Formats: sequence, C-alpha cells, structure tokens
Amino acid sequence: YQQLRGIRSVGKTQGRVMILGSGWGGFKLLRDMNKNAFDIVAVSPRNHFLFTPLLASTSVGTLEFRCITEPVRGYTRNVEYHQAWCDTIDFDKSTVNCTLNLSKVPKTHAKTPEGKEGANGNKDSIRLNYDHLIIAVGSYSNTFNIPGVKEHAFFLKEVADARKIRSRVLECFERAEMSRSDEERNGLLHFAVVGGGPTGVEFSSELFDFIREDCSRLFPGLMNHVTLAVYDVAPKILATFDQSLSQYCMNKFKRSGIEVRTGTVVERVEDGKLVLKGGQEVPFGCLVWSTGLTENPLTVAMEGRVLKSKSKRILTDPYLRVLDTEGKVIPNVYALGDCATIKDHELPQTAQVANQQAIWLRKALNKWSKQPEKSLTDVAQPFSFKNLGSMAYIGNWEAVVDMTKINENAKESGRFAWIFWRSSYLTMSVSMRNKFVIPMYWLMAWVFGRDVSSFQEYDRRKRLMKNSEREG
Ligand code: FAD
Ligand code: MG
Repeated sequence: YQQLRGIRSVGKTQGRVMILGSGWGGFKLLRDMNKNAFDIVAVSPRNHFLFTPLLASTSVGTLEFRCITEPVRGYTRNVEYHQAWCDTIDFDKSTVNCTLNLSKVPKTHAKTPEGKEGANGNKDSIRLNYDHLIIAVGSYSNTFNIPGVKEHAFFLKEVADARKIRSRVLECFERAEMSRSDEERNGLLHFAVVGGGPTGVEFSSELFDFIREDCSRLFPGLMNHVTLAVYDVAPKILATFDQSLSQYCMNKFKRSGIEVRTGTVVERVEDGKLVLKGGQEVPFGCLVWSTGLTENPLTVAMEGRVLKSKSKRILTDPYLRVLDTEGKVIPNVYALGDCATIKDHELPQTAQVANQQAIWLRKALNKWSKQPEKSLTDVAQPFSFKNLGSMAYIGNWEAVVDMTKINENAKESGRFAWIFWRSSYLTMSVSMRNKFVIPMYWLMAWVFGRDVSSFQEYDRRKRLMKNSEREG
C-alpha cells in the first residue's frame, strides 16, 4: 500500500473528515462542510454527483446526461479527493484501504524519488487515515438471486445504465424494422419493466412518452407491435404511495396501454426472454430491473464488525454513529443514506433521507468543532426524519404527488401535480448551470423531439477483431 497523509491537518483543524461516496449524502457533505474547521478528504469511484430523480428522463432523451450530474472536482477547492473505492476499513487504526478507479491510465515508467522502478503512479491501492469517517456509499440493485437478471437485464442506477438502455431501445426498433416475422417484431418491441416502485413507474412513463411522441413518428409501421409492461409480485404498483394515487396510476397506465402485471413472479431471465412462474415465457427486447436494493461490497466487507439491520443496512444510533456488533458506538464513525439506517427506526432509502441526514451531520459536526471537549450528544439534538412526501412522474405530462404524511388531504394527481413535480426538481437540482440547461432540454424535447443518436463502437476493424477472438 501507498500511504498518503495530508499535511494540512496538523494542528490547524479538528482533524481529517473522510467522506466515502459522492451521492446524495456524500456530495452534499463534501461541498458544504466547514473547511476551516476540518480537513475534508473525499473518496468515491464516481467523479460526479448524480441527480437520480431525473435519471429515468435521460434514459430516453427527455434530458441529456450531463444536465443531471455535477463534477466532484468542481467543488474540491480545499478538499483532498481520491477517485477510488474504499474496500475495507480498520476501525482500530482509523485507516481505510482503497483501490483507485483509474485502471485504464497507462503505466508510467518514471522512477521513484529513491530511484526505484515504478513510481507511485502505478500503484492501484492506497491506504488513507482519518480522524472522523462518514460512510455514504449507497446501495446496489437487488436481483433476489433470480437467475439471468445480472446477465440480461438493465438496472437504472447510474448514467452508464441510462445510456445502455437508450441505445438498446433504439436498436430494438431498428432491428424490428428489418424483420419480416411478426413474432420477432413483437418480441423485440416488448419492453419489460420488473418492479413497480417509483423508479420502475417513472421509467415506464418516460419510455411510454418516448414511444408515443418520437418512435411513432420515426417508425410508424411498427407501432402495432409495441407493448410495454410493468411486472410486480405485489398486488399493486406505487405501493408506498397513498392508496388513491396508486389506483390513479394503475388506471392511467391501463388506459394508455401500459400493461400492469401485478401478482406476477419472474422465475428466471434468459437472453431476450422472461420466464414467469407457471411457465409462461415472454420474449422482450429490453428489460429494466428495479425491484429494490441490497448492500454494496463495502458494507458486505464490514460483516462481523458492525451491527446490521434485517435489510443489510449498517445500524447507527440517532446521532448517526455506527454501532459495533455489541451495539456500542464506534468512535468517530458515522453512516448515512441508503447504506445505513437508525436502530429501531427503519428509514426509507431515498434522496430525501440522505439529504436531511447530510445537513444534520454537517451542522452537528460544525457545532462540535467549536466545543471539541464536549461530546456530539451534548451539542446536537438527535436526528429525526421529516417526511416531506413523495412524487412520481406517470407519463403524458401527469404526475402523482403524495404529501399525506404532512396533511391527510395533501395529495394531487394529474397535470397540476406534474407542474409541481417539474418545478420541484428544477429548484432542487444543484448548480446554476443545470438549473439553466434542464428547462432548455425540456423545451427542445417538446419542440424538436428527443434526439435518437446513440454512441457506440463504429470501427468495423475492432468489431472483426473481437469476433475472431471470440471464435478463436
Ligand atoms: P448514492 O447517492 O447512491 O451515492 C453513493 C455513492 O457512493 C456513489 O457516489 C458511489 O459511487 C459511491 N460508492 C459506492 N461504493 C463505494 C466505495 N466502496 N467507496 C467509496 N464510495 C463508494 N429518492 C428520492 O427521494 N426521490 C426520488 O425521486 C428518487 N428517485 C430515484 C430515481 C432513481 C432512478 C434512483 C436509482 C434512485 C432514486 N431515489 C430517489 C433514491 C435516491 O437516489 C437514493 O436514496 C440516494 O441516492 C441515496 O443517497 P446515498 O448518498 O446514500 O447513495
Ligand atoms: Mg453519498
């Protein structure tokens, strides 16, 4: 391991605060923590923040990918940033072991200052130390170990996922246009979404809009072959929403021709084919899987060191301090967002929670930094989550907004809810730049239609080389 230690921290501040992750929890903290009170070290393999609520829009081109990301480097003045995964944490020595996510950079041939072969630049592993550690590494998509999902389905978590989906949908249309068999066309143009939570519903709605508004114009002869279905084991979709809103969404889907196949169990997935319980086989061109979340590899690696909930999230006390297997606080280690939850208070895995926790922790640590002789519990009130409600886009310029957690009657569906949906996300999006470009793309998609170019490998020689490798 290459040991790195920031020299800035010596005596100047209340120590090094290491933040793992650049998502809703981590990015907020690395951007807003008081840099005079702490030295901030950020570790994340992803060099940008992603505004997840609008990710589904980018998977069909209603918005472009770069409208919903913010580069970490734009906010790293006075922050030490490492583009790396944290693999393991040593709580006793206060160190973390990381692997750089820069493996495609060519090896350097420079010598070390001592004249040895291979300067530090070639090392992929680094060890870093911290005084305070904040774990905000998020979660991974859950496949429930259903065979074939990893190989044949797309998830919708990162920009890379949205990009793959966008290309695939277009490829299905192009391929179907060439086909002379109706059976094949129907299969290629069956778009399947497994999971009827907000992400599955929003993606289906965006895809539906894309097909109705753009594909219908570009591939008019294929429209009779297109089908779109949402599969869920539960009896309804948007099950976490108010009953009437969930019903509104299901009715709307059915009216517009989106099949709602609730109470359906997917047994396995093969290349281009869903196999349902009972044996029914459904050919598809594109399958998006969003049935829930599970722990990520770092959380797995913490097994036996920290307390975890039934849903495999790190357990903390109400001050977001991580608990060891005996339920005692591990000093100076905090966890928040999707990867953690408060003991005896299961929190939803939403941006809203991660965001509120990040704000709470920033304030608590800042207060503490002014009175470091006291403990965090003396200077701060415990964290409590304020549920501000939830919303989902349901297609054709309609949304559902559920604020019944605040006021029994505060719910809305339809066009007005959609305006609320769009304006809330616009105000929440992070930078001025994005506040500016998001409405521009909305307008462009409306006036000119969505862009259907997709970017892949076009060098025929490379294709041929790959094929001969596969065969040979
Ligand atoms: P994330 O935002 O997922 O960030 C995790 C970060 O940790 C990432 O930067 C990742 O690269 C990094 N990381 C991973 N492993 C490591 C490691 N080993 N070491 C260091 N860093 C690591 N919530 C809402 O409230 N409203 C919505 O409308 C909404 N819509 C959503 C739509 C989609 C498509 C998705 C996928 C999610 C949506 N969510 C929504 C949920 C919300 O995005 C998550 O709850 C939120 O991102 C959790 O924040 P986090 O910081 O815990 O994790
Ligand atoms: Mg985060």
